[in-house]
Amino acid sequence: MFGKKKYIPIKVPVESRNDTIPGLGQSCPECGKWYTLEELSGNYGVCLRCNWHLALSARQRIEMLCDPQSFEEFNASMAAGNRLNFPGYEQKLDQAREDSGLPEAIVTGRATLGGYQVVLGVMDSHFMMGSMGVVVGEKVCRAVEEAIEDECPLIICSCSGGARMQEGIFSLMQMAKTAAVLERFHQKGYLYISVLTNPTTGGVLASFASLADIIISEPGALLGFTGPRVIKQTIGERLPENFQQAGFLLDHGMLDLVVERNRLREQLILLLKLHQGGEAW
Ligand SMILES: [Zn+2]
Repeated sequence: MFGKKKYIPIKVPVESRNDTIPGLGQSCPECGKWYTLEELSGNYGVCLRCNWHLALSARQRIEMLCDPQSFEEFNASMAAGNRLNFPGYEQKLDQAREDSGLPEAIVTGRATLGGYQVVLGVMDSHFMMGSMGVVVGEKVCRAVEEAIEDECPLIICSCSGGARMQEGIFSLMQMAKTAAVLERFHQKGYLYISVLTNPTTGGVLASFASLADIIISEPGALLGFTGPRVIKQTIGERLPENFQQAGFLLDHGMLDLVVERNRLREQLILLLKLHQGGEAW
């Protein structure tokens, strides 16, 4: 097929996927090739052998997308508490803060991209797999409200295992809350672009990540509400191969674009320009 670029992972023998040595480097989870941190950051965290897009931290993605020194964070110190006294949650939060260097699983703020003002939210999978609890939901809502106040476009880069089970019903409530504030945003006619990265699943995909005017994904990303095994058990049918991968979802109309990471900033700037009445070329 011409015109459509498909992500086809190269299968190579693997001895040690998911090896990470903090401060030194890590191996590609798809093909196992080892990279130093410098090699990875020099290629936007994309594997040179198989094109797998490895997880970026929120700070790395902000640096990659925004104009230099333009990002101004808001609600930076907001952090979760253990409202339900869920056993072991405080320790998990401490570990997540150490792993990610962040107080919570999303960073939000104002920035410019190619000179265009936006409100930007970036999730970080290094913090409890980017799960959504009360603070993530609240920070998303405040980011949307800031964008309404500033009358500017909103961009949210998602990466999530879904709702945070340690916060029970409070985490599920964030789905309705973020959906409600985005409806107010849409009624104003402003632009919301959602960028989905590997993986975006569960309550995040089923709420604010899917409620955008334009939905973009990175290649190869796993995107779905629930895992294939659970779906198969529930509906009793065999599902198509790769049906939760970005390329399949693009082909079936669930995504607007699949964009390689090294072209993402350029693509977002083009969309912002078009939205403000500029010409594409
Ligand atoms: Zn690879």
